[in-house]
Amino acid sequence: MSENFIGGKWVPARSGAQLDCLAPATGQPFATIADSDAQDVDLAVRAARRAYDEGTWGRMTATERGRIMSRFAAVILDHHAELAALESLDTGKPASVARADITALARYFEFYGGAADKLHGETIPYLDGFQVSVLREPHGVTGHILPWNYPAQMFGRTLAPALAAGNATVLKPAEDACATPLRLAALSQEAGFPDGAINVVTGRGAVAGSALVSNPGVDFVSFTGSPEVGQVIQKLAADNYISCTLELGGKSPHLVFEDADFDQAIPVICKAIIQNTGQTCSAGSRVLIQRSIYDRFIARLAEAFSQLRVGAPEMDHDCGPIITAKQQKRVQSFIDRAKAAGIPLLAEGRPDPGLDPRGFYVTPSLFGPVDPESELAREEVFGPVLAALPFDDEAEAIRLANGTDYGLVAAIWTKDGARQMRVAKRLRAGQVFLNTYGAGAGIELPFGGNGKSGHGREKGFAALYDFSVTKTVVLNHGS
Ligand code: NAD
Repeated sequence: MSENFIGGKWVPARSGAQLDCLAPATGQPFATIADSDAQDVDLAVRAARRAYDEGTWGRMTATERGRIMSRFAAVILDHHAELAALESLDTGKPASVARADITALARYFEFYGGAADKLHGETIPYLDGFQVSVLREPHGVTGHILPWNYPAQMFGRTLAPALAAGNATVLKPAEDACATPLRLAALSQEAGFPDGAINVVTGRGAVAGSALVSNPGVDFVSFTGSPEVGQVIQKLAADNYISCTLELGGKSPHLVFEDADFDQAIPVICKAIIQNTGQTCSAGSRVLIQRSIYDRFIARLAEAFSQLRVGAPEMDHDCGPIITAKQQKRVQSFIDRAKAAGIPLLAEGRPDPGLDPRGFYVTPSLFGPVDPESELAREEVFGPVLAALPFDDEAEAIRLANGTDYGLVAAIWTKDGARQMRVAKRLRAGQVFLNTYGAGAGIELPFGGNGKSGHGREKGFAALYDFSVTKTVVLNHGS
């Protein structure tokens, strides 16, 4: 049974209520978490406030903060195998994907630990006899709401820059993926974080999540999750007079031109949709292919797709189970509707014959040609389902690529250097990859969306700016 981590102590939910944690590979419960309410959240926000206003954390130099963060990276690596196993059990990730996620998590604390004392203000030339300093300061207490797809990585992605900038934090993990964030809260003490710098409160979104955004002690919110809930968060933040970063969904396209290198593109395009069993906001879920090579390219892509294997996490195949029965049903319903609409199913992956029937599995599916107006071309499935669409020329490729409500990531496959930059500049996306793809690549690289994909930037130095604010100080020292 897990409790909340508040002010450096383990505290049960005041109501005593608990939620079950299910293993996606078997559908069976393996732990319980606290089902917290607004009072529990308030306790955590007060602990963070104390740490920021009166505690060691708020008075610490940036260099000292950075050192603790770097130590945390080392502690995470010391517990790499344990954390990867926990992440895999809780989310159903294939073993090697979970291991890579823990490595990335450590890298977040390494990168932002090093960056903590490199976030500087500036001076501005102003009137004669005046000195203007623009200080860059933390918001104070930041609230963080996580999705279930990358609990470990996301713990680092959102907390590391917030802590580096000097904020005290309250994290609400997704109710379906709390195991690693809770274990990391315990490990943060080993690294030397003072009480209240990191607080973790578990519970349901509509109760604990909304209480966090609405709490008057919270100064800024970072949310990653669905566009629908993102809208709710932004409205709650507005009512609380605070701003927020929203990292929401995607329908990210590959644009494959007729001079593309098939051997280079095909394995990357497969990986971009099946990584984390398609449960990645930046999954490459559409492949736009120039008509002159459509048949040849699709034949090769279908051949590669049909080799993809689905297995239990420990089998370490290309795909594992989907996170919950509810999400499995949702993904399967997209596949069923596409089939019922007569969209050709070009290839399917291969489920292992010994899969536990209680696990939440779906079969990776490649459909095409898909009508650009159909739901498969426009809506996020959040599963291993790839939609292929033909295009005639560059203008149509750009129009199709930009033709959804999302704008997160895109890839352009062409050897023509002028076209690479021309098309990249016209795509509505926070990241554009040329002859490669990086679903979630690079902690150094600013990442974020447009439109229904959200706003604000995470990763890189961009995140440090979002997790801090300027204060302009004007001194009249006389001439
Ligand atoms: P979700 O929006 O249902 O839940 C995300 C988080 O929000 C959870 O912690 C949940 O408890 C909380 N929540 C739910 N309702 C809430 C409310 N009313 N108030 C406050 N908090 C609330 O999303 P999900 O099902 O966990 O994740 C799937 C979606 O997230 C997909 O659409 C995916 O594209 C998106 N996603 C985006 C990114 C990104 O970086 N852009 C990353 C991961 C997932």
